Amino acid sequence: MSPAQASSGETYMPAIAQALGVSVQEITFARIIRKSVDARGRSIKINMSFQVYLDEEPASNLENEYQYQPVENKPEIVVVGAGPAGLFAALRLIELGYKPVVIERGKPVHERKSDIDLLESNHILNRESNYCFGEGGAGTFSDGKLYTRSKKRGDISRILEILYIHGADESILYEAHPHIGSDKLPGVITNIRKTIQGAGGVMSFNTRVTDLKLVDGRIDYLVTDKNEKIRGNAYIFATGHSARDVYFMMQSKGILLEAKPFAMGVRVEHPQGLIDQIQYHGHKDRHLPAAAYNVVEQVNGRGVYSFCMCPGGQIVPSATNESEIVVNGMSLSERNSPFANSGIVVQVMPEDYRNYQNLEGLAGLRLQELFEEKAYRQVQNGQRAPAQRLTDFVSNRNSQNLPVNSYLPGTVMSPMHEWMPDFIKRNLQEGFKKFDTKMRGFLTRDAVIVGVESRTSSPVRIPRDPESGSHTRISNLFTAGEGAGYSGGIVSSAVDGENMAASCARFAAGS
Ligand SMILES: Cc1cc2nc3c(=O)[nH]c(=O)nc-3n(C[C@H](O)[C@H](O)[C@H](O)COP(=O)(O)OP(=O)(O)OC[C@H]3O[C@@H](n4cnc5c(N)ncnc54)[C@H](O)[C@@H]3O)c2cc1C
Repeated sequence: MSPAQASSGETYMPAIAQALGVSVQEITFARIIRKSVDARGRSIKINMSFQVYLDEEPASNLENEYQYQPVENKPEIVVVGAGPAGLFAALRLIELGYKPVVIERGKPVHERKSDIDLLESNHILNRESNYCFGEGGAGTFSDGKLYTRSKKRGDISRILEILYIHGADESILYEAHPHIGSDKLPGVITNIRKTIQGAGGVMSFNTRVTDLKLVDGRIDYLVTDKNEKIRGNAYIFATGHSARDVYFMMQSKGILLEAKPFAMGVRVEHPQGLIDQIQYHGHKDRHLPAAAYNVVEQVNGRGVYSFCMCPGGQIVPSATNESEIVVNGMSLSERNSPFANSGIVVQVMPEDYRNYQNLEGLAGLRLQELFEEKAYRQVQNGQRAPAQRLTDFVSNRNSQNLPVNSYLPGTVMSPMHEWMPDFIKRNLQEGFKKFDTKMRGFLTRDAVIVGVESRTSSPVRIPRDPESGSHTRISNLFTAGEGAGYSGGIVSSAVDGENMAASCARFAAGS
């Protein structure tokens, strides 16, 4: 179908009726099953599949498929962290008949929004309430992209359906590249909290887990920053990969952690109109969404690739400490800002952090931390971030000025080619040149790079026993989501949270 024809029921219903050889009046209900943009050819097409009902109404109602029965008096399982992994673990525990006790260092999502506003306007970074920490976790004020490379479709559908019944738009159930948007996510997260609390689960905010007591290879209790002791039948740590204090605390307790591959680089921002021009071959019309892209190249034996591309979005400050700069991207549901940003990152290899081998499992994390601190030292002005015109960076040239960009705390001209680790600089430079051969016009003076994009995935893995799912050496410790090093992104972290809840429930049933 043409983008115009696909844009509303009024225009696509006649096409369905014609394909089925019936009249529009005979169709009682048509549900979109799949929708994707095909921009490969000169004329842009929208591919759509439908489930069509003739003379009957659809029977099933998704709300009835997910039941959260009361669990007030059921065995308690402690979930640390209310990001996608923690929240979906909590929901699954309720389904399995356990009472989740969720402990979150940050604030409830709407209070968290005020801290984010302060961060963007006044550079006041609240270490416990920011783009990474607080109810909903790191993905809350984001583009809310819900696609994942994971192939377990059944699990993914569950996550999308649960988000939908908690208020996300129906389109996430059929779009090939679903996303929710920063303006809609807080409402969805609030509804998930209400489901958890409504079933008798506990959500404690402004409470940070600072320590744990190990006895005979098991956690006896957790300790919070309020000096409370928290006990449960088992413990799920879903603390994300920005919670460095959790990794250090675990390492100090002798809990085995492993360094794992990750990637670092910069965020690049173009005018959205230019990306539309490239991706839609000059045929963007008002019925087409802001164009996205996905680029990947091998450079000197390393992957260089786009990460978390945000069409019509904004670059945001994602640090969790005042003396570091970390950027990421977000967008609203309409994806209607004039900018297109994406992380462009280089694979990090073990040889890159060999100088920090004494830190064992945290060696990669140390490299990541140093990169972020270095970015901060270039500017040393709150959360203002170093930036350079893309063409200047690739040519090892200082910028004389910067294009207007979306990063609200402000960007400052910086010779990023001079201070970046050599392996990141050289591979990014080559990568950008290669991207331009695939997307002509990508390498342009109108694009800006902003540093640094360092938290793409976790540099640490907390190893799991493949059978039980628990830590290899601590039987009642389960780790879920991105911080565990087994997922990346909202959906795969949510799936991992659900899986760990199931493992934990099996453990609790047998313990
Ligand atoms: C700005 C931004 C945009 C993003 N955009 C997207 C996107 O569009 N699509 C996508 O798939 N992914 C996106 N991501 C990545 C995505 O958010 C993460 O992959 C995902 O949130 C990981 O989920 P998680 O539950 O494992 O961890 P997190 O979301 O990091 O959640 C961990 C939670 O644990 C809490 N916590 C940490 N330590 C403690 C402690 N000691 N005690 C108590 N609580 C603690 C934290 O406050 C946090 O709420 C984005 C990330 C950012 C920062």
